[in-house]
This record gives sequence, structure tokens and C-alpha cells, in this order.
Amino acid sequence: MSGELIRLTAAELGAAIRDGETSAVEATRSYLDRITEVDGDIHAFLHVDAEAALEQARAVDARRAEGAELGPLAGVPIAHKDVFTTRDMPTTAASRILEGWRPPYDATVTERLRAAGLVILGKTNMDEFAMGSSTENSAFGPTANPWDVSRIPGGSSGGSSAAVAAFEAPLATGTDTGGSIRQPAAVCGLVGAKPTYGGSSRYGLIAFASSLDTPGPFARNVLDAALLHEAFSGHDPRDSTSIDAPVPPVVEAARHGDVDGLRIGIVREFAGEGYQPGVLQRFTEAVEVLESLGAKVVEVSCPSFRTALAAYYLIAPSECSSNLARFDAMRYGLRSGDDGTRSAEEVMALTRAEGFGPEVKRRIILGTYALSSGYYDAYYGSAQSVRTLIKRDFDAAFEHVDVLVSPTTPTTAFPLGERVDDPMAMYLADLCTIPANLAGNAALSVPCGLAPEDGLPVGLQIMAPVLADDRTYRVGAALEGALRDRWGGDLLARSPYAVA
Ligand code: GLN
Repeated sequence: MSGELIRLTAAELGAAIRDGETSAVEATRSYLDRITEVDGDIHAFLHVDAEAALEQARAVDARRAEGAELGPLAGVPIAHKDVFTTRDMPTTAASRILEGWRPPYDATVTERLRAAGLVILGKTNMDEFAMGSSTENSAFGPTANPWDVSRIPGGSSGGSSAAVAAFEAPLATGTDTGGSIRQPAAVCGLVGAKPTYGGSSRYGLIAFASSLDTPGPFARNVLDAALLHEAFSGHDPRDSTSIDAPVPPVVEAARHGDVDGLRIGIVREFAGEGYQPGVLQRFTEAVEVLESLGAKVVEVSCPSFRTALAAYYLIAPSECSSNLARFDAMRYGLRSGDDGTRSAEEVMALTRAEGFGPEVKRRIILGTYALSSGYYDAYYGSAQSVRTLIKRDFDAAFEHVDVLVSPTTPTTAFPLGERVDDPMAMYLADLCTIPANLAGNAALSVPCGLAPEDGLPVGLQIMAPVLADDRTYRVGAALEGALRDRWGGDLLARSPYAVA
């Protein structure tokens, strides 16, 4: 029975709970058992709270028993990235500096998950403060990719992607600042979306780079991702950059995948060197599938995309150096060397030296330098100008096409340890995802096959204009349907950790 529940999609599980074929408690127990069984190999979770999860599940079952109308995901378990505050569980952002911190409040995303009746199983591993592409920057040890446990699950939301790919949860949350949902989704064979910036709330999200950070969903299929997207998105007056507009009709779009007559642009600049041949092969085949479904494919040029990575690695560290100033040894978590003989400044310095990992320090130093008065215009100022150029490239492209597509990542999941000492190689994992963050538009990654050379998942990225998130789901659903027919089932079923 428990294997059967785990095999269901989130939409199916929600329906089974609503129809009384199973209960939220049953579903939660099945997933908790699965976590006990496999998380020793995967290490997707930093914290699992079985009692709290069962309590939430009982509440959903009680509401149903009272005759309340349940939403589509009520009673469905979810893995929650440890960057969102949760008042009943620790929140560390995978940093020593926040070890033991218990937030006094829930993030808006957390609050909305609870309101939708989703059952939070626990908090997932990530790169410290969401800085990284492999989850190896976690202070609490890396997470393994369920397709091959010697490889990275992507990052920074690698605990979330691994949890869903190992069937430890049907759904997970993530945050995407430069690719941290789409990249891990791609390398774990999942669907992951970066909503339009401001479409999902940052309130209660531990800030990395505030002008880029965007909460979004992970799921095993397009419809489940859309249901989760809808459940936690939408206007939030507590986030000053939240957009006051209705959530785009993503669920409707996911149910009606269709690309007939749609104009799809391929970005010329996303090709060539640095791409694994098998990634390009699967991408090209997927584009042919979209064409066979009636899409018109054209090549477009976005010349400024070439400078996106460089601009991002000035803007994101600059914002992080300012955001992370709040970890001052006084307000949260760790405090080192406070023995009564040291000044506040000394305690702060000792705490930050001990509490932050090497990548976080590298970025704080870089960001502080880029923002210093003598260099501000040369670095931060020019990076912001590049950002404007990238936005213009998107605007120009969207005059001719409805969506843009690219491989999500240049390579499949790389071996654990391969890039830890080479930050540049690590940063390149986000080559294709960063432009959408800099411009703020919607993007989604959907599986498009296994690379022939290593048998690992490849993702296709779909980018759409601001607030046209539904288009990414429409295209994603069309491709998913066509590929499912071609493969005779879901790609994820071929993973060694699949419950098929
Ligand atoms: N890998 C990118 C970085 O390290 C993106 C991270 C993210 O999206 N949170 O900054």
C-alpha cells in the first residue's frame, strides 16, 4: 500500500485523499517510511519532523471528516527548502551561523503551504545561503543525486530535487536566484519552475540577492508543479516587490499542453563550446518534437546574454554582502568567543569567521569590494547596465516569438567533488538560467531525455515574458505528453530510486 501511494502523482494523491480512498495520515506515513528507508543514502533532509507532519495530516483528515471542501493538494506531503522560515522547525539555510535558530514566524510561502493543507515533512539541504550549484556548500554535508549517488543533485536547492527524485516527497519548494530550481530539476530529471520575479513572495525567505530571489516549485510532472506554483504564489503585501496581479493560469495551461502555431525562439548565443554533446542532442530532438506538434521554430539573437554570467557574479555577491551583514552574532544563532573579555566587534568577527563557509566568505568579500565607493561604478554600476541590456534582448526577442528555449544546463550532473575547488567551473552550471533571473521573467525546466554518454537526465528550459508563466507550463506539458508517448512512460521511472 505504501509503495502505491508513493507512486501516485501529487494531483492523484490529493484526489485520493479528497475521495476518501486514502487519508493524509496514510500518505504522510508512507513518505516518512520512505525517508527512513533511503535518506541515509541521499541526505536530502536536514531536519525531518515526523510528529509535526502527522499532526498536520491529522488536521487535514479531521477537516475532511467535518465535511470541509479540500483543495487539490490538501494532505499531500512536501519537502521544504531550509531557506524558508518555519515557526515549528529550525531554519538554517545550511549555515553554521544559523545552527539551532528557531524562527518566531512562518514565511509567506510556508503559511500558504499550510493553508493549502500541504503536509511539511521537513527541511531540505541546500548550498549555504543558496550560494552554489551542487549542494556541496552546505555546512552539513552534501546531498547525492538519486540517479547516481556519486554525483551532485544540483544546487542550491539540491536537497529538494533529490527528495523528489528519490520519491521521499512528491513535491518540494525551492528558490531560484540564478538557476537554483531549474538546474537541480534538470540534473535530477524533474520539472522545476522559476516564477516571474515578484510572482511568489520573498517574505520570510532568508535573503541571498533580493532583486533576484524567487521561490518556486519542484515536481515529478508539469501539472503537479503548476498546482504547487498556484498554491503558494500571488500578491503579498508584506513583500515590497510582490506583484499585485492575479497568478497566471498555470494549472489550466498544464492541463492543456499545446504548441500548435506557437512561435519558439532558439537563442543563438546558447550553443557551442562548453556543452556536453548528449545534452545538445537531446535538446535538438526535443525542439524537433515541438516542431512536429505544430510549433514554428526560429533562431533569435540575444547578444547580451554572453555577459549575463559576469554581471550576475557582481550583482548577486553585492546584494549578499549587504543582506548577510545582519548575521552579527547578536541577533541570530551562533555566537563565538563571548567570554566577557571581548568587544562586540571581536565577537562578531569571530562568529562570522567560524559561522560562514568559504563560498559565502568569497562572495561577501567580492560584493563588499564591488560596492566600495572607488569601484562602485566600474563594477556594480556596469553590471546593472548589462542587466538592462539583457532585459532589452528579451523584449526584442519576445516581439517575434512567444517563448524561448534552451538546454537548462550545459552538462548533466557532474561527480561530487569535481568542481568544489574551481568556482568558475561551478558558476558555469548556470550559464543558461541566469538571464531569466536578471530580467525577472518566467522560466521552467522540463526533462527531455537521458544523455547517451552517461544515461543522466537532460533538461529543456522554456522562458516566457514577465507574468506569462502559463506559457512555460503550456509548452512544458505539450513536450512532456509527446515524450511520454515516445518513451512509453515517465523518464523518472528509469531512475534507480524510482518507486515504479
Ligand atoms: N548557482 C548560482 C549561485 O551560486 C545560483 C544560486 C541560486 O539560484 N540560488 O549564485
